[in-house]
Amino acid sequence: MSGFTTSILHSARRARPEHGAVHTPIHTSVAYGYDSAEALAAVFQNRAPGFSYARQGNPTAAALERLVTTLEGGVESLSFASGMAAIHALCLSLLKAGDHIVASRFLFGNTVSLFNTLAAFGVTVSFVDATDAAEVRAAITPATRLVFVETIANPVTQVADLAAIGALCAERGLVYVVDNTLTGPWLFQPRTVGASLVINALTKSFAGHGDALGGMLTDTGLYDWARFPNILELYKLGEPKRWALIQVRKKGLRDLGASLDAEAAHRILLGAETLALRQARTASNAQALAEFLEAHPAVEKVNYPGLKSHAQHGRAAELFRLPGSLLSFSLKAGLEPFPVLDRLRIAIISSNLGDNRTLVIPVAQTIFFELGAERRAAMGIPESLIRVSVGIEEPEDLLADFAQALTAVS
Ligand SMILES: *Cc1c(COP(=O)(O)O)cnc(C)c1O
Repeated sequence: MSGFTTSILHSARRARPEHGAVHTPIHTSVAYGYDSAEALAAVFQNRAPGFSYARQGNPTAAALERLVTTLEGGVESLSFASGMAAIHALCLSLLKAGDHIVASRFLFGNTVSLFNTLAAFGVTVSFVDATDAAEVRAAITPATRLVFVETIANPVTQVADLAAIGALCAERGLVYVVDNTLTGPWLFQPRTVGASLVINALTKSFAGHGDALGGMLTDTGLYDWARFPNILELYKLGEPKRWALIQVRKKGLRDLGASLDAEAAHRILLGAETLALRQARTASNAQALAEFLEAHPAVEKVNYPGLKSHAQHGRAAELFRLPGSLLSFSLKAGLEPFPVLDRLRIAIISSNLGDNRTLVIPVAQTIFFELGAERRAAMGIPESLIRVSVGIEEPEDLLADFAQALTAVS
């Protein structure tokens, strides 16, 4: 196989798009016509590939699915209207009342909220410190169906014990779901640590331009779905390694309807072309900014896996090509985060991450506000914590921006 970026730029073109279009066309048709009733019936019955109604997929989204499958080293992917839609569809399609999930305690907040909603439907969740696989092991019960972790947690950047949890899941026959959003397939392939299913919120670094929402679920082919109790007989078609996504396409994508539209898929495809270039730049910028902040007298603590002071620095260096673009830092006692944020001239006060532009947010007062002070403290989130999603600006401009903002308050 060719290199990462070469493969992004040239694999879709080789699938012979109409008229030899160099970019994947935007297919807006909702319905698809067939020459025979049998041909349409074959598509409905999963006996032949093809499109029937766009809620279950369109050719532009399918090109993106093939791309992510290649980049993740998987067997198949399914696209969704957002990262949350992918996680929701996975849970609703593959779990039932009485099932149990073991999840990292440091998950993306909306995923935690979704898991708490599932409790009302009889699916229980144990949240554990996933930086230690022993905690995951201790939480497993006979009802456990899947283990759900993220690669790098937001906003404190803990790195899960990914390889040991993968070995544990293999030993216990559990489905291992890794949300790869903060790293993405260029920095890390969860398949290498035994992940069964991989989530990518394409909205973030994968698309990179902050102009499209999208999510992807990839089956790595490592899990033998013949041993999973929740696959309906109807979807046991062909090789067992494809069963889960057949069921998620029907029960999750078709029935829930959070489908990726062709316009968004097109923008994500364009953004993805420069994934490796952007991530090389954002990681080197993040490293420079983290080192600058760590040495600054107004800063109490910096969280970034690329720093030697990070608790999982060695693990991150071993697993990831680069330590990513997200960092956070707290201020010395007595210093308030808002005046620092308000003085930044380049970094934008905004809630997204993974954009080309550097984005900053005060964590306790926004994305973790609903949790309350007590739970924030338990999660290691100080009231002055500022999260930075580092962009591709020139590093000297970024350092100068943070330098002037911090000097003004200290
Ligand atoms: C943003 C994010 C999601 C959700 O993605 P959306 O496209 O915003 O729905 C899921 N997981 C992680 C780790 C994220 O950062």
